[in-house]
Amino acid sequence: MFKLDDLPYDYSALEPYIDAQTMEIHYSKHHQTYVDKLNAALKDFPDLADKNIEELVSSIDNLPATIQVPVRNNGGGHYNHTLFWQSMTSDNDQNNLPTNISDAINNAFGDLESFKAEFAGVAINRFGSGWAWLVGKDGNLEIISTANQDTPLELGCQPLLGLDVWEHAYYLKYQNRRPEYIEAWWNVINWSAVAQRLTKN
Ligand code: MN
Repeated sequence: MFKLDDLPYDYSALEPYIDAQTMEIHYSKHHQTYVDKLNAALKDFPDLADKNIEELVSSIDNLPATIQVPVRNNGGGHYNHTLFWQSMTSDNDQNNLPTNISDAINNAFGDLESFKAEFAGVAINRFGSGWAWLVGKDGNLEIISTANQDTPLELGCQPLLGLDVWEHAYYLKYQNRRPEYIEAWWNVINWSAVAQRLTKN
Protein backbone atom coordinates (compact mmCIF):
# COMPACT_ATOMS: atom_id res chain seq x y z
CA MET A 1 0.00 0.00 0.00
CA PHE A 2 1.29 3.42 -0.93
CA LYS A 3 0.82 6.30 1.47
CA LEU A 4 1.22 10.03 1.41
CA ASP A 5 4.57 11.22 2.78
CA ASP A 6 4.46 14.13 5.20
CA LEU A 7 4.87 17.53 3.60
CA PRO A 8 8.39 18.81 4.39
CA TYR A 9 6.93 22.19 5.51
CA ASP A 10 3.69 23.80 6.71
CA TYR A 11 0.87 24.64 4.32
CA SER A 12 1.68 28.34 4.75
CA ALA A 13 5.44 27.97 4.27
CA LEU A 14 5.44 29.00 0.61
CA GLU A 15 3.33 32.14 1.10
CA PRO A 16 2.94 34.53 -0.59
CA TYR A 17 3.99 32.67 -3.73
CA ILE A 18 1.79 29.63 -3.17
CA ASP A 19 -1.06 30.19 -0.73
CA ALA A 20 -1.82 27.94 2.23
CA GLN A 21 -5.33 27.02 1.10
CA THR A 22 -4.08 25.82 -2.28
CA MET A 23 -1.34 23.81 -0.57
CA GLU A 24 -3.78 22.19 1.85
CA ILE A 25 -6.29 21.18 -0.82
CA HIS A 26 -3.61 20.17 -3.29
CA TYR A 27 -1.79 17.93 -0.81
CA SER A 28 -4.54 16.58 1.46
CA LYS A 29 -7.25 16.18 -1.21
CA HIS A 30 -5.74 15.91 -4.70
CA HIS A 31 -2.56 14.02 -3.84
CA GLN A 32 -4.35 11.83 -1.27
CA THR A 33 -6.92 10.88 -3.92
CA TYR A 34 -4.18 9.77 -6.33
CA VAL A 35 -2.72 7.57 -3.59
CA ASP A 36 -6.11 6.10 -2.67
CA LYS A 37 -7.02 5.33 -6.28
CA LEU A 38 -3.58 3.84 -6.97
CA ASN A 39 -4.01 1.49 -4.01
CA ALA A 40 -7.51 0.57 -5.19
CA ALA A 41 -6.19 -0.24 -8.68
CA LEU A 42 -3.43 -2.47 -7.28
CA LYS A 43 -5.41 -4.33 -4.64
CA ASP A 44 -6.15 -7.38 -6.81
CA PHE A 45 -2.53 -7.67 -8.03
CA PRO A 46 -0.47 -8.84 -5.04
CA ASP A 47 2.45 -9.77 -7.29
CA LEU A 48 2.97 -6.04 -7.90
CA ALA A 49 3.15 -5.26 -4.19
CA ASP A 50 6.95 -5.26 -4.03
CA LYS A 51 7.32 -2.69 -6.82
CA ASN A 52 8.10 0.89 -5.84
CA ILE A 53 6.38 3.82 -7.47
CA GLU A 54 9.24 4.51 -9.90
CA GLU A 55 9.14 0.92 -11.14
CA LEU A 56 5.37 1.01 -11.59
CA VAL A 57 5.22 4.22 -13.62
CA SER A 58 8.40 3.56 -15.63
CA SER A 59 6.98 0.55 -17.46
CA ILE A 60 3.23 0.98 -17.65
CA ASP A 61 3.00 -1.03 -20.87
CA ASN A 62 4.17 -4.11 -18.96
CA LEU A 63 1.37 -3.90 -16.39
CA PRO A 64 -1.88 -5.87 -16.66
CA ALA A 65 -4.06 -4.13 -19.26
CA THR A 66 -6.91 -3.37 -16.88
CA ILE A 67 -4.76 -1.25 -14.57
CA GLN A 68 -2.59 0.58 -17.09
CA VAL A 69 -4.83 3.65 -17.21
CA PRO A 70 -5.42 3.95 -13.44
CA VAL A 71 -1.70 3.45 -12.73
CA ARG A 72 -0.74 6.00 -15.39
CA ASN A 73 -3.08 8.60 -13.89
CA ASN A 74 -2.88 7.87 -10.18
CA GLY A 75 0.56 6.30 -9.90
CA GLY A 76 1.86 9.15 -12.03
CA GLY A 77 -0.03 11.60 -9.83
CA HIS A 78 1.55 10.14 -6.71
CA TYR A 79 5.07 10.15 -8.17
CA ASN A 80 4.83 13.64 -9.68
CA HIS A 81 3.39 15.30 -6.59
CA THR A 82 5.89 13.70 -4.22
CA LEU A 83 8.69 15.12 -6.35
CA PHE A 84 6.90 18.48 -6.56
CA TRP A 85 6.60 18.93 -2.76
CA GLN A 86 10.24 17.99 -2.30
CA SER A 87 11.27 20.48 -4.99
CA MET A 88 10.04 23.49 -3.01
CA THR A 89 11.23 25.23 0.14
CA SER A 90 10.74 28.49 1.98
CA ASP A 91 14.34 28.94 3.04
CA ASN A 92 16.60 28.68 0.04
CA ASP A 93 18.79 31.36 -1.46
CA GLN A 94 17.43 31.59 -4.98
CA ASN A 95 20.50 33.46 -6.20
CA ASN A 96 23.01 30.95 -4.91
CA LEU A 97 22.53 27.61 -6.64
CA PRO A 98 24.71 24.60 -5.85
CA THR A 99 27.63 24.54 -8.27
CA ASN A 100 26.75 21.31 -10.04
CA ILE A 101 23.24 22.38 -11.05
CA SER A 102 24.35 25.92 -11.82
CA ASP A 103 27.09 24.67 -14.15
CA ALA A 104 24.77 22.16 -15.81
CA ILE A 105 22.11 24.82 -16.44
CA ASN A 106 24.66 27.28 -17.80
CA ASN A 107 26.08 24.64 -20.13
CA ALA A 108 22.69 23.58 -21.43
CA PHE A 109 20.81 26.87 -21.59
CA GLY A 110 23.39 29.67 -21.43
CA ASP A 111 22.45 31.08 -18.03
CA LEU A 112 19.82 30.79 -15.32
CA GLU A 113 17.57 33.50 -16.75
CA SER A 114 17.59 31.86 -20.17
CA PHE A 115 16.71 28.55 -18.58
CA LYS A 116 13.83 30.10 -16.64
CA ALA A 117 12.47 31.79 -19.75
CA GLU A 118 12.58 28.58 -21.77
CA PHE A 119 11.04 26.56 -18.94
CA ALA A 120 8.27 29.12 -18.43
CA GLY A 121 7.47 29.04 -22.13
CA VAL A 122 7.04 25.27 -22.05
CA ALA A 123 4.92 25.51 -18.89
CA ILE A 124 2.70 28.25 -20.31
CA ASN A 125 2.21 26.38 -23.58
CA ARG A 126 1.22 23.09 -21.95
CA PHE A 127 -2.34 22.92 -23.27
CA GLY A 128 -4.79 21.81 -20.61
CA SER A 129 -3.43 19.92 -17.61
CA GLY A 130 0.07 18.63 -17.17
CA TRP A 131 3.60 19.34 -16.08
CA ALA A 132 6.76 21.12 -17.19
CA TRP A 133 10.05 19.42 -16.36
CA LEU A 134 13.77 19.90 -16.23
CA VAL A 135 15.11 16.42 -16.93
CA GLY A 136 18.35 14.62 -17.44
CA LYS A 137 18.57 12.44 -20.52
CA ASP A 138 21.66 10.77 -21.97
CA GLY A 139 23.90 13.06 -19.90
CA ASN A 140 22.22 16.28 -21.08
CA LEU A 141 19.65 18.57 -19.51
CA GLU A 142 16.38 19.12 -21.37
CA ILE A 143 13.09 20.90 -20.77
CA ILE A 144 10.03 18.82 -21.58
CA SER A 145 6.33 18.77 -20.87
CA THR A 146 3.97 15.90 -20.09
CA ALA A 147 0.18 15.76 -20.28
CA ASN A 148 -2.09 14.92 -17.36
CA GLN A 149 -0.07 12.89 -14.81
CA ASP A 150 2.31 11.26 -17.27
CA THR A 151 5.85 11.14 -15.89
CA PRO A 152 9.23 11.76 -17.55
CA LEU A 153 10.35 8.30 -16.39
CA GLU A 154 8.26 6.65 -19.06
CA LEU A 155 10.14 8.68 -21.68
CA GLY A 156 13.51 7.54 -20.38
CA CYS A 157 14.13 10.90 -18.73
CA GLN A 158 15.20 11.48 -15.13
CA PRO A 159 13.16 14.32 -13.61
CA LEU A 160 15.23 16.95 -11.81
CA LEU A 161 12.56 19.63 -11.30
CA GLY A 162 8.85 19.61 -12.11
CA LEU A 163 6.10 22.21 -12.13
CA ASP A 164 2.45 21.28 -11.82
CA VAL A 165 0.43 23.42 -14.23
CA TRP A 166 -2.95 21.83 -13.55
CA GLU A 167 -5.40 24.59 -12.64
CA HIS A 168 -5.84 23.02 -9.18
CA ALA A 169 -2.22 24.05 -8.49
CA TYR A 170 -2.83 27.78 -8.86
CA TYR A 171 -6.43 28.74 -9.57
CA LEU A 172 -7.44 29.95 -6.09
CA LYS A 173 -4.72 32.59 -6.05
CA TYR A 174 -3.92 33.21 -9.70
CA GLN A 175 -7.17 32.21 -11.49
CA ASN A 176 -6.37 32.12 -15.22
CA ARG A 177 -2.97 33.80 -14.82
CA ARG A 178 -0.69 30.78 -15.19
CA PRO A 179 2.32 32.93 -16.17
CA GLU A 180 2.14 34.79 -12.81
CA TYR A 181 2.06 31.49 -10.92
CA ILE A 182 5.12 30.30 -12.83
CA GLU A 183 6.96 33.56 -12.16
CA ALA A 184 6.16 33.33 -8.43
CA TRP A 185 7.21 29.68 -8.24
CA TRP A 186 10.85 30.55 -8.96
CA ASN A 187 10.99 32.04 -5.46
CA VAL A 188 10.44 28.70 -3.73
CA ILE A 189 12.65 26.25 -5.62
CA ASN A 190 14.62 23.82 -3.48
CA TRP A 191 17.78 23.92 -5.57
CA SER A 192 19.59 21.66 -3.12
CA ALA A 193 17.07 18.91 -3.87
CA VAL A 194 17.48 19.50 -7.61
CA ALA A 195 21.26 19.35 -7.24
CA GLN A 196 21.02 16.05 -5.37
CA ARG A 197 18.87 14.54 -8.11
CA LEU A 198 21.45 15.65 -10.68
CA THR A 199 24.18 13.90 -8.70
CA LYS A 200 22.22 10.64 -8.81
CA ASN A 201 21.25 11.06 -12.45
MN1 MN B 1 -1.45 18.71 -8.75
